[in-house]
Amino acid sequence: MLKANIETFLACDASYEEAGIVLYGAPFDSTTSYRPGTRFGSRAIRSESYGLESYSPYQDRDLTDYAVFDAGDQELCFGDASLALKDLRERAAEIAGDGKIPFMLGGEHLVTLAPVQALAEKYPDLHIIHFDAHADLRQDYLGAALSHACVIRRCHDILGDGRIHQFCIRSGDREEFYFAAEHTQMQKFDFTGLGELAEELERNHTPVYLTIDLDCLDPSCFPGTGTPEAGGVSFVQLTDAIGRTAKLNIVGADVNELAPMLDQSGTSTAMACKVLRELLLVLAANRSTEKLK
Ligand code: MN
Ligand code: MN
Repeated sequence: MLKANIETFLACDASYEEAGIVLYGAPFDSTTSYRPGTRFGSRAIRSESYGLESYSPYQDRDLTDYAVFDAGDQELCFGDASLALKDLRERAAEIAGDGKIPFMLGGEHLVTLAPVQALAEKYPDLHIIHFDAHADLRQDYLGAALSHACVIRRCHDILGDGRIHQFCIRSGDREEFYFAAEHTQMQKFDFTGLGELAEELERNHTPVYLTIDLDCLDPSCFPGTGTPEAGGVSFVQLTDAIGRTAKLNIVGADVNELAPMLDQSGTSTAMACKVLRELLLVLAANRSTEKLK
């Protein structure tokens, strides 16, 4: 029998009912400070994932064994960040309310604010683990409080001190680094300390939101992003860091800032697909969300 042509991320073809993890795209890039294009990120990841194996030799796990639902891209208002965030917040709240993990594909990094708002309501002791080249701690960017350069500062407005853990940071203005010294836990340049942090959060079964800005990767291997920043981590370092989050109580996640058209070779998109596969496998295995046979 012929079936409708529905494109999902690699092997993420479970029904919503059976799925423990729900993927959804947030194709929004209106506050991008430098080179736009991340609105095409989620669609490119879905489309190019056919070139990737569903089996991970790193984890000896296969995505075909797990129940992940892909809801496609959400239709968002490009001209009004507040409206876009409101729609994304409702989506995250609905998925979390159904007992599933909301997993968002950006889009620019501002979209992270929406699921964090929704999940902080459900989990008042929420922590954030943040991988990024940029601190994203500006109070405003050219007067705009809602900007991808301010997203973690807006998350701090909600969560307060000591609950935001930043890694790989190598760019920001002086005030952002001074702010971090007082209010967040920031590891510059790499993932040092992530293992110890994970152990502590695991012990207390702390709910964690994991946000991965793909520009934490070095632009020599990942040039397809709007604000490339030299001196980043390798793919192997990033997947190793993802592995260290394996036993955490992750209640929401996102991968953001792929701008596929800025890397005509397609390598950045292919790498984003692989990062996503590894993170999905870690989350799915931890949550025991095997497919019904
Ligand atoms: Mn960012
Ligand atoms: Mn960044």
